[in-house]
Amino acid sequence: MNFDLTDDQRAIIDSARAFAQKELAPHAAEWDAASHFPVDVIRRAGELGFCSLYSPVEQGGMGLSRLDATLVFEELSAACTSTTAYITIHNMATWMATTFGSEAVKAEWGPALVTGEKLASYCLTEPNAGSDAASLKTRAVRDGDDYVLSGSKAFISGAGATDALVLMARTGGDGPKGITCFLVPADASGVGYGRNEEKMGWKTQPTRLVTLDNVRIPARYRIGAEGEGFRIAMKGLDGGRLNIATCSVGTAQAALERAAAYLNERRQFGKALAEFQALQFRLADMATELVAARQMVRLAAWKLDNGDPEATTYCAMAKRFATDAGFAVCNEALQLHGGYGYIREYPLERHVRDTRVHQILEGTNEIMRLIVARRLLADAEAASRIR
Ligand SMILES: Cc1cc2nc3c(=O)[nH]c(=O)nc-3n(C[C@H](O)[C@H](O)[C@H](O)COP(=O)(O)OP(=O)(O)OC[C@H]3O[C@@H](n4cnc5c(N)ncnc54)[C@H](O)[C@@H]3O)c2cc1C
Repeated sequence: MNFDLTDDQRAIIDSARAFAQKELAPHAAEWDAASHFPVDVIRRAGELGFCSLYSPVEQGGMGLSRLDATLVFEELSAACTSTTAYITIHNMATWMATTFGSEAVKAEWGPALVTGEKLASYCLTEPNAGSDAASLKTRAVRDGDDYVLSGSKAFISGAGATDALVLMARTGGDGPKGITCFLVPADASGVGYGRNEEKMGWKTQPTRLVTLDNVRIPARYRIGAEGEGFRIAMKGLDGGRLNIATCSVGTAQAALERAAAYLNERRQFGKALAEFQALQFRLADMATELVAARQMVRLAAWKLDNGDPEATTYCAMAKRFATDAGFAVCNEALQLHGGYGYIREYPLERHVRDTRVHQILEGTNEIMRLIVARRLLADAEAASRIR
């Protein structure tokens, strides 16, 4: 097994790092403080292909592997977690539209989505359907050449500033098989937006409630067949979970590097903090957990790239492990900075605030455990297969 990255992959990392250090890192703290959504910078990321990293080449996407996409997201998130996390959601929604969309969706929306000229939101969660997403109630009723949608979606990232809503609604009976995926133009008549939620972190992107009041869209904006929506939404989330896991790894890497530098710089009791073995051991544990998390994410990405039947299980494991480890590393890095870790002049408190939500969204870490446990208990051999 070769864990080395290829020359092409190193070049991808270099270009992502150069962009991140120039366009994201210098502004991340200021955007966070002002709750500013940097749409112009996201569009510039799109010019480099970062808005459609794994969307099909035939639709104008970069057609990279999921593993390659994680390399980009790791570099970007080390510079601005929250903005990168939105970019990953745009990538997920764009992949869904350009992979499963009708010819009309691909032709009318694909070109602007893949470049980031138009931005997308992913709309699954509802006020009363979070972890139990298959119980969603938003309705889409066929009416001639149109669908008419009514209902509401909660916690939608980017909402109010995006152009397309990749949205799951019920066309059939109860349960996952009654759900269909649509592309709803964000400015369609009857689409309403709640206030920008005041959040602990992820402040550089808006999060809003979206309401749909008899929203009429052409039937050609359906993504996939009727009843296929939940499957498409979950396929999107396999990649989405890798992406969010990667945002934790990238942020934690930045926090680890700062902590190591700080231990060398800061002196107490007449010596550098780096000389206290208790602190050395903590740094060693942080690096160990982080390397394990990165390898787990890359393993899951590789499984997804290679169509492994258990790819979903590995994506869930990676999301659970890397988001827990990433948050813990950021929190430890804050602790190692003492009081300075808690004040805004240093980025540690932002890293902690930004990575906390990764344990909650795109399926909570409890739901990740549910997915893994279900597979382990699926049949007599399952527990020996997943290794
Ligand atoms: C900042 C932010 C951005 C978001 N962006 C989006 C977005 O762009 N699009 C979108 O569709 N959604 C988005 N979400 C929604 C997110 O995916 C949900 O919040 C998440 O899935 C959990 O749903 P819930 O909040 O309703 O919690 P609930 O489902 O009510 O869960 C509450 C608690 O119970 C636990 N729990 C629930 N069921 C079980 C069970 N069976 N076994 C064990 N424990 C369980 C959960 O893990 C959790 O700890 C976002 C959320 C946030 C906070």
